[in-house]
Amino acid sequence: MIAITRGQCEVEFDGRFELCHLPKALTLAQQSELAVGDRLRLIRRPSGELVVSQVLPRWSRLSRPDPLLVHRERVLAANLDLAIVVTALRKPALATGLLDRFLVALAHGGVPAAVVVNKYDLAEADERADPELARLAPYRALAIPFLFTSVKTGRGIPDLLALLAGKTVVFVGHSGVGKSSLLGALAPELDVRVGEVSTLNSRGRHTTTRARIYRLPGDTRIIDTPGIREFGLWQLSRAELAGYFEEFGPLSQSCRFNDCSHSHEPNCAVRDAAENGTLDRGRYETYLRIFESLDAER
Ligand code: GDP
Ligand code: ZN
Repeated sequence: MIAITRGQCEVEFDGRFELCHLPKALTLAQQSELAVGDRLRLIRRPSGELVVSQVLPRWSRLSRPDPLLVHRERVLAANLDLAIVVTALRKPALATGLLDRFLVALAHGGVPAAVVVNKYDLAEADERADPELARLAPYRALAIPFLFTSVKTGRGIPDLLALLAGKTVVFVGHSGVGKSSLLGALAPELDVRVGEVSTLNSRGRHTTTRARIYRLPGDTRIIDTPGIREFGLWQLSRAELAGYFEEFGPLSQSCRFNDCSHSHEPNCAVRDAAENGTLDRGRYETYLRIFESLDAER
């Protein structure tokens, strides 16, 4: 399913695009039950029109709390194979805290992530003396793909294309880091599908905004729907959080308590490592900030 309007959605199958009706229950629950990227089971009525009969289980999702009903999940996109977290050197200044938050939220939604650092043309001539590059060291050490790109010089664009090949992908990141520019560089001749997505505005009325599915050669799809570039954390528990900081894993085996939260306990190997510099202090501080922001009982 590639786009939703009120009461209808646009589906792609066998290389064709068709409009499909939504049963009433799905229309009402639309933003949690149905999202761009969902796989559907359809029935064709005798009149010839298609109706959604079932939304199939999702293997990954990006969600955020509904702005009107905070306990309600709004799924922004489903069944993503990869999310590219885009950051930039210098303009705007590298925001590692935000990068950490994106990585946590993606891991929580089961979406594999990759880090792209764009605007590499703004790196200092002597790369070893560049403080922003130095701050990226902990991310280069993570198990996920890491790429430098520059839309200006073309650096890294072929590698990025290879990383996306055959996948359904989303680009996330702060505004101004170059997401639109990267899309343009990846596919100068975009075969752009433009759909309409119905969302609720602050007064609870339906407004129509655009969702785009960019299709690149090689069966790559890039989903760009409203809100997806800067989504938030959805229903994360304190107990789950540390699991999303992969480098904490081996250290935490040496914590005194095996249910150590790495926040206040004595003899915490994670905190010790952050203090003596074997663990990146910035990553640990983001962990603590997110930890404090989560409800203790959840
Ligand atoms: P978005 O908000 O993430 O979609 O960012 P845009 O694609 O709109 O880019 C923001 C600004 O950064 C624009 O002025 C771009 O021309 C500029 N920009 C994008 N990529 C690069 C790059 O690789 N190097 C430099 N120097 N500027 C870039
Ligand atoms: Zn600990």
